[in-house]
Amino acid sequence: LAAPNTFAGEALDRAGPQRSDEAWLAARRADPQTRVVAASESGVLVAGERLRLLAVDELPDDLELVLLGVDGDGRALFAADPGDAFPGERRGLRDLAPVLSQADGGLVAHAVALLNWHRRHGFCANCGARSESREAGHTRRCPACGAEHHPRTDPVVIMLVTDGDRALLGRQASWPTGRYSALAGFVEPGESLEEAVAREVREEAGVQVADVRYRSSQPWPFPSSLMLGFAARWAGGEPAVRDDELEDVGWFTRTAILGGDVMLPPPTAIARRLIDEWLGDDKAPVATGGLAVR
Ligand SMILES: [Zn+2]
Repeated sequence: LAAPNTFAGEALDRAGPQRSDEAWLAARRADPQTRVVAASESGVLVAGERLRLLAVDELPDDLELVLLGVDGDGRALFAADPGDAFPGERRGLRDLAPVLSQADGGLVAHAVALLNWHRRHGFCANCGARSESREAGHTRRCPACGAEHHPRTDPVVIMLVTDGDRALLGRQASWPTGRYSALAGFVEPGESLEEAVAREVREEAGVQVADVRYRSSQPWPFPSSLMLGFAARWAGGEPAVRDDELEDVGWFTRTAILGGDVMLPPPTAIARRLIDEWLGDDKAPVATGGLAVR
C-alpha cells in the first residue's frame, strides 16, 4: 500500500465507543498524561516546527474539549480552540504540513477539521437555536428541536486527465504565477463521484473524459473537504476556459512538465501526487499527433 497523503495517516485509535462514556471522559480530562491540540482561527499552537501539545490544566476550565482519540501509549488526545487571545506561537496548517511527521499531520488535520466545524456550526441548521456539543464533540444537538448534527466532510473530486504523453492542467487567477494543477470541484447532491469528475472537466475545460479511475484521497480541512483523487482519459473536446473557475487550462506534455515549464503544486497536495504518479508511469501510451497509440 502506498504511503498516505499528507493530512492522512494519524496514528490514533479514534475511540468511537468512548465518546459517550461520561465517566471515561471525565477520567481522561483529569489525567495529567492527557494532551490537547490547541488551534484557533489564526493557526495551530506550535513550538517552532513541532506541535505544542498542552496539558488540560494549561487551558481555561470551561473550554470545550473534543476527543480525538487514544495514542499507542494509552494517552488520550483532545482538541480545543482557546481563541486567538490565548498566548503562544501559531502556524497555519498549509505552512506546517511540510515539516510535520505523517502522523502529526494527520492528527492536526483531524483536530482542525473538527474545530472548524464547531466554530461554523454553533446554531441549529433546522431551527436556528444555539446547539450544544455532545459525544465529546462528535455531534451537536439542538435543545429546541432535538435535531442531531454531525461533523461535515465535503467531498471534492480532483482529477488528472491525460491523453498519452500530455496532461490537462489549469490555473486559478489567485494562484502564484506559473502554477498549474489538476482540475477539481465539489461533488453535487445526487451525483456519483465518476459523474462529478466528468461534469467538472466538461464545465471547466469543455473536455469529455472516459475511464475514470480512483487513485487516493486526502483530508483537506480548509475548512472541511475530503479530496478524492482520480485519473481519467481524454475522450474528446479541445480544452478552453468555460467558466469563472479557471484563468487558463490546457495540455502540458511530460517533457514540458519535467523540464520545469510549469510550476506544480507542492508535494503535500494530492494534485501533485496524481501528477507524479502519471509522470512515473512509463506504461502510459505515447501520443502522436493528438491520437493515443500503444
Ligand atoms: Zn433546532
